Amino acid sequence: MLKVISGPMFSGKSVELIRQVNRYKIAGKRVMVFKFSADTRYSATEAASYDGLTTWAIPVSTAAEIESRVTPEHEVVVIDEIQFFDDNIVDLILSYVRRGMDVVVGGLNLDFRGEPFILQGGTKNMGDILGRADFIHLLHAICTARVNGKICGSEATRTQRLKNGEPVRADEPLVQIGSAESYEARCIAHHYVL
Ligand SMILES: [Zn+2]
Repeated sequence: MLKVISGPMFSGKSVELIRQVNRYKIAGKRVMVFKFSADTRYSATEAASYDGLTTWAIPVSTAAEIESRVTPEHEVVVIDEIQFFDDNIVDLILSYVRRGMDVVVGGLNLDFRGEPFILQGGTKNMGDILGRADFIHLLHAICTARVNGKICGSEATRTQRLKNGEPVRADEPLVQIGSAESYEARCIAHHYVL
């Protein structure tokens, strides 16, 4: 079966992924855990590291690397930051599901514009994964927009990209080079794209 843990940044996806891994370990399953590896273009490690996932997940950057490491003995494959992988990841995880394995993936459903996150290669997006899921844990964060000096506090379903504290333009690249920008969880009313 395919389990997808999704939602905006700061919604606790990695924590839920770890909980899933621990459950499979209690059940005595042979689990392989992968996370998207920061190549030099993007520091994906930060997103995962503060939840402790980096301590034991294998860093990889392509679907082919995962394929080369998963063997017939493995019963469960877990992948964090699935939205950063290439289009081939979709067919790969479905092949594992058809084989009878459990696949648990975590990742952003939407990009900073609020559109389904496009996979590397551009022919597939997170909707292709969410649409084939057997279980979806759609998590929410808390909107941290400030309204009259107070935190909004509503359920946040979007990730706001900011540069120098201001919303960015919609035509900016999906995966940013460098780290001048920052991110906040926002409700839809406080999600802005210029
Ligand atoms: Zn809000």
